Amino acid sequence: MTAKRVRDLGEFGLIARLREQVTTSPRVVEGIGDDAAVLEGPGEGRLLLFACDTIAEGVHFLPDAAPEQIGHKALACNLSDIAAMGGIPRAATLSLGCAPETPVATVDGIWAGMRRLAAAFDVDLVGGDTHRSPAGLILSVAIVGEVERELYVRRGGAKAGHFVVVTGPLGGSVLGKHLTFTPRVREGRWLAERRLVSAMIDLSDGLASDLRQVCTASGVGAELFADRIPIADAATELAQTGPTASTALGRALYDGEDFELLATVAPELLDEAASDYLETFGERLHVLGRTTAGPQVRLIHPDARSQELTAGGFDHFG
Ligand code: ADP
Ligand code: MG
Repeated sequence: MTAKRVRDLGEFGLIARLREQVTTSPRVVEGIGDDAAVLEGPGEGRLLLFACDTIAEGVHFLPDAAPEQIGHKALACNLSDIAAMGGIPRAATLSLGCAPETPVATVDGIWAGMRRLAAAFDVDLVGGDTHRSPAGLILSVAIVGEVERELYVRRGGAKAGHFVVVTGPLGGSVLGKHLTFTPRVREGRWLAERRLVSAMIDLSDGLASDLRQVCTASGVGAELFADRIPIADAATELAQTGPTASTALGRALYDGEDFELLATVAPELLDEAASDYLETFGERLHVLGRTTAGPQVRLIHPDARSQELTAGGFDHFG
């Protein structure tokens, strides 16, 4: 009998296995399972958010990516996780893996990309670690933020009958957006402060996969309306010219790294949320589905045909 490999568990199975093996102290409000851990804060009524995300050459960016963009992405995907909790990012560290031959200009460029984004969101770069990487550049960023106890938004807060909304068009981010996106920190904070959303996640693994995370955590199912899913131009372009057969809708459902926020909104708050959001940000909050008693996540076509969405989406070991 061959030993079990991580591929046999998949990314989510592996995380579940690690999670089962820890118990946490009362200082932990939310441990493994959400976009960021939530810890009791030093101040009354405030909680600490804590998250980390790594990007690796050949996995999250190609060797020809501009160093500034690599640095930008490393911090942006971490900011996105704080955004998904409705929090305010405060400070980040960079653990950098590179080779002795890595040009200093590459490291300078990475740091410049991080510094620019950190300044834009008033985040301090406060430390890190440096190590040799035989397998290309690896950037591991850890981030802390804060949020008021009564405002933080979990993945698990959706109730059946809530609307599913998203902050922007989806799919095809591999054509460029995955390196250049602006994390939805302001939008996430705005939605949380006004208590407009019952659950929230940032879309890193793909709409179908990340909506399932919200549904599983909330104990609901969902229906996505195929004709309401906002499709990015890049998704259409990839569907027409990409190396593998795909449809633009398929790309919007399954492509990863859109880094938009996906949230659920109670029906009585939807009109206010949609109109105030448009007024504030000059962009639509797209309504693309509804949660159900569950547990399935289904795609509803305009002619009323429907299909269960498979668990597809990005799995690091799939
Ligand atoms: P995200 O895409 O929002 O960064 P992930 O899907 O990477 O979230 O992770 C889901 C949850 O599992 C998070 O709460 C994360 O902290 C946790 N997690 C992921 N990998 C590990 C690990 N190796 N050990 C412990 N917790 C992990
Ligand atoms: Mg996330």
